[in-house]
Amino acid sequence: MTTPPLGPNDWEGLRSDLHRLLDRCVDQMRDAKDHPWQAPPADLADRYAIGTGGDVVGRVMDQVLPYHGGNTHPKFWGWVQGSGLASDFVAGIAAAAMNTNGGGRNHGINEVERAVIDWTRRKMGFGTGASGVLVAGTSQATVIALQAARVRACPDVRAAGGDAKLTVYAAEGVHNATRKAVELLGLGHDQLRLVQTKDGAMDLETLQQAIDMDRAHGRTPLTIVGTSGSVDLGGYDDLHALSDLANREGIWLHVDGAFGAWTRLADAPWRGLTDGIDRADSIALDFHKWMYVGYDCGLALIADEAAHRAAFAARPAYLKGAAEGLAGGDPWFCDYGIDLSRGNRALKVWCALEMFGEEAFAAAITRNCAQASFMADQVQTHGMTLAAPVVSNICVFTAAPELPADQQSALNAKIATHLQLKNATVFSTTDVNGITCLRAAITNHRTRNHHIAEAIADVAKTAQLLKGSVG
Ligand SMILES: *Cc1c(COP(=O)(O)O)cnc(C)c1O
Repeated sequence: MTTPPLGPNDWEGLRSDLHRLLDRCVDQMRDAKDHPWQAPPADLADRYAIGTGGDVVGRVMDQVLPYHGGNTHPKFWGWVQGSGLASDFVAGIAAAAMNTNGGGRNHGINEVERAVIDWTRRKMGFGTGASGVLVAGTSQATVIALQAARVRACPDVRAAGGDAKLTVYAAEGVHNATRKAVELLGLGHDQLRLVQTKDGAMDLETLQQAIDMDRAHGRTPLTIVGTSGSVDLGGYDDLHALSDLANREGIWLHVDGAFGAWTRLADAPWRGLTDGIDRADSIALDFHKWMYVGYDCGLALIADEAAHRAAFAARPAYLKGAAEGLAGGDPWFCDYGIDLSRGNRALKVWCALEMFGEEAFAAAITRNCAQASFMADQVQTHGMTLAAPVVSNICVFTAAPELPADQQSALNAKIATHLQLKNATVFSTTDVNGITCLRAAITNHRTRNHHIAEAIADVAKTAQLLKGSVG
């Protein structure tokens, strides 16, 4: 018996199958408004059972493509998810042919990654001494940044291991990614000080008191995590003030700018929300949220290349570099993060910027901010109530403010589910002052104002429809 080959027997057959697939995919993205999230059929797991074989391209077209997560649809504003770009096709197809391993060595993708990082560095206002590495997302970028901070503070930590006396400071409402990073680094989340906020930003007096208290108890303040765009309400810390304080205290300032860092590209007044971000020691941000690039792609950006390198670089014999040949090339991105083997994240960002131009992204980000304000107007026009003022692209509201808190919570949750199932419209929910509210985070370049007007009218109508069911 001969073993089947790991390549197509019929390249021309594959070519025509791929043309069919590409046509279907391009149609699906072009007509994104006709392809909302739909509940996966109950037998989907059976349909995906390994070992079925057959017409794989046909199965992908019929059984996989329709059951996406909905974030390509113009009325998708749930959680904070990006909307994907047509340029992702270019990058994805080329990436499949190249099978790059971006850990290092002398090949083109490292230069593409370098170009993407350098562009972002300039947009964030970091100097030429900065460095970065593309990662799965802000969660991993946070681990990388906090490890760089720790190695700078405790140069022997790579050899000797962790020290439980290091403390980290962030606004209450900081994304769980920071807590996870603090846990993963062995600091323990008991060492994460959640500082109260005032007008949506970390309260500086409380922060100073927490730092003083920790020093008085023999602890070493390691990092202040500023937030640009908090996940619940879209709050922004005052980065100039945090930077002044961090400099005075000799503490590393990290910024979680997962989506909000991109207000750097927006017009006034939103651009001002991230004033001072250029003074941070590190930034974690995502391309897959508010730069709309396909999943996944985030960036750890570190102001001091030496500090970044000191935290991760290691070249055992089997990774020795060379002056020329394939083992040449510099930098090797494995020296700046956790992963040695690395897929091709850089090309989709590069294709996006080169196909559409930076100005198109600036316009889309600005438009999303204006749309959140428009949504807030619509909410109030329909007699519903904002849970907090809209700062940039997040609008959080409750549909029936006249009801008791628990009934509002139940109703808002029901409305979210109902609209997902019936109206191709995706809000998520979050809790504000003990009430589960509807939340829209608009990181969607396909959204237009009429989508928002329709959706808010649907919310109001659905509230009337379901009100009786929560009493
Ligand atoms: C999404 C998000 C994160 C986590 O980023 P991932 O890319 O999902 O890992 C961290 N912080 C904020 C503010 C976020 O919105």
